Order: sequence, then C-alpha cells, then structure tokens
Amino acid sequence: MSVTRVALAGSTGSIGTQSLEVLAVEPDRFELVAIGATGRHPEALIEQARAHRPRIVAVSDGSAAAVVAAALPGIEVRGGADAIASLANEADVVVNGVVGFAGLSVTLATLNAGKRLALANKESLIAAGPVVQVARRTPGAELIPVDSEHGAIHQCLRSSANNTRVARLLLTASGGPFRGRSAADLDSVTIEDALAHPTWKMGPKITIDSSTLMNKGLEVIEAHELFGVPAGPDGYGIGFDEIDVVVHPQSIVHSMVEYTDASTIAQLSAPDMRLPIGYALAYPDRIGTPFGRIDWTTLGRLDFEPPDLEAFPCLALAYAAGRVGGTAPAWLSGANEVAVDAFLAGRISWRNIASVIAATLEHHDGAAASSAEAVIDADATARRIASEQLSRFESAAVNS
Ligand code: MG
Repeated sequence: MSVTRVALAGSTGSIGTQSLEVLAVEPDRFELVAIGATGRHPEALIEQARAHRPRIVAVSDGSAAAVVAAALPGIEVRGGADAIASLANEADVVVNGVVGFAGLSVTLATLNAGKRLALANKESLIAAGPVVQVARRTPGAELIPVDSEHGAIHQCLRSSANNTRVARLLLTASGGPFRGRSAADLDSVTIEDALAHPTWKMGPKITIDSSTLMNKGLEVIEAHELFGVPAGPDGYGIGFDEIDVVVHPQSIVHSMVEYTDASTIAQLSAPDMRLPIGYALAYPDRIGTPFGRIDWTTLGRLDFEPPDLEAFPCLALAYAAGRVGGTAPAWLSGANEVAVDAFLAGRISWRNIASVIAATLEHHDGAAASSAEAVIDADATARRIASEQLSRFESAAVNS
C-alpha cells in the first residue's frame, strides 16, 4: 500500500483534531506532511506540530507565524494569507477543515493543483459553486465530502452504475437541540441552549447552524453542488425538487438515496465525524479501524419526521437561495456567518438569526458567481449588508 501524504487545513479545529485521530490509527497508510491554521490559537498549533512533527506548518496570520516559527526549529513555517492554500502542493490529499468562507482559497488551490480535496468546509462549495465546479474538472482533482450526510450519499451512490436511476436524495437531520419546539417556544433560547447538540460533537459555528437548521439548508445546496445532475434521456435528474430533508433524531441513518424503482439505500453508523474523515482519506478503500460500532441489540428504534419550516425558517431560506443560484448562496452563507457571530456575541436573539439573513437576502443584487473574485465581492457585500441589518434586531437580544 502506498502512503498517502495528508495536509490538514484548519488543524486546530474540530475536524482537524479528529483528522489527527484518524491518521494516528493508520500510520502505515497516511503520512501527515503539513498542518495549517489561522494563528488565533498559536499555542495549540505549536503543540500539534511538536506532537505530530509535520514537515510544514502554515499560519495565515503573519505575526502569529513568527511566534510559531520561533517555537519550532527544524520545521518550515509559512506565514501569510496564502500560506494554508500553498499546502495543496505538498500533499496527495488536503482536508479542508477551515471554518466558514475563509476556506475558499484552500478548496480552489487543492482542486486546481489536481489533488484530492476532503471537504469539510461546505461554505466554500456553497458560496462559490460555479467556480468550484470549474476547478473540479482539473485533471487529477477529486472532491470527497467530509460531511456525514454527503459522505453517506457518496457511499449510497456506489450501489448505482454511473449515478444513474437516482430518483431522490434524502438528507437526514438530527433536528438539533430545539427539535419539537414551536416558533413561539424559541423566543428565549440562550447561547448555551443552542450549543448543546444532542448527538454530534462539532465546533461552535456548525453547532449553532444545526440548531437553526441552517446547517441542513447549507447541506441541501452542498448536495445539489456535489450530486446534482440535469435530467437525462430517461427523464431523471437531481435538482432541488429531488433533494429532501427528513428529521431523524438518533443520527444513525446519515442519509439515503432513493432509486427510480423506489429502492432506498441508506448508510448507517454511529454519529462520529472520524468515519466520514477516514472514508474521504481512504476512498475507494476503507480504513481498518471502526470508531464506534452500532449495537443493534440496544439501538431500539430509528425515528423519522418532517422538518418544521415555521419554527426553523433558515431551511426554507436556503432552498430559496439555492434555487436562485448565482451569488444567492454566497449571500445566504455570508449573512449567516455574520448573524451567527452576532448571536454568539450576545447581540441578537436566536430567532433573529433567520431575520437578519432574510433581511439581507432582500437586497440581493442577482449577480452571477462567474469568478472567485465575483464570489469574494458577493460575500463581502452580503456581510456588509447583514452587519447593517443587525442594528434592526439587536434590542431583541437583551433578555435572551
Ligand atoms: Mg453534516
């Protein structure tokens, strides 16, 4: 077995640290060659580098890079805005675990270098879909999702020849901590409530997105980018009408593919991100280590229910932005990042996360996502407008 050289972008985050656990159980198969992070937590990055000894460490914050370099004699430290993206040239696979739109440069650099992208940073694909699609056509480039739902669909599609005869993709959602609550019931939820995810261990941004169902909305757009196909001669294609969300609180069925004969293939496993990470690294093979097996004798039941679009309007906002296309998903995702930051800073209430995004999207200018620059502009415009909208909703946060 040849050794796969792995670079971790966003190494100090939740995906990064769980990726290191996957690499650790298969040392003969994977070699960690580089790690990269923003530099917001230089001590964590220094500690990782000392423990795992990559050849290269990238830090996007220039002054943090100097601190890291001083602490790591014998390791090449790259600093600056393009430092993390530059790791694509050093590895066979780049795990993009950067949080938010900041992951775009890593996504594009990896695909443009003709390498495998193990993508946990869904925001880059959602915001820059048309640009990423062009980069995916680079010879050698390959995108394997590190999102449990999309990893599941990727697996379910392996039971079909050439992804044909697919009738429907079914994304499962845990429903987050507020499943079953009515819209009125959600007026006074706190940051702590929203961060208490019932089944998954994840970073704060995605955990808040799970509580609003925006994460599922972003995943609908992500699924459309990854697996969408125009209708073929048989009349079957995958558009937004063929991507459904079903709430499944146990987080055991990670998603499903329904074929044209109504046969449905599901992928089931314990809710642990190390499985989709290992899958994306080892595909088309599989890693030999299970991170938690299902105990069928105690599992009991698997429940499914429709999502409540009234209590969780972010899901409908995402479908709408996805259908508009162009830069609308970039606006959605950028406005969401601003709103989630404002919620985590105590500036707006949980329910007003959706209000800020909806108010921002009313200003969408209909621009096309024709280039990386156009997407970066769209993201900046959406963030500016979302920041302006915050003041309309700020007072609502006072007692929450
Ligand atoms: Mg997911």
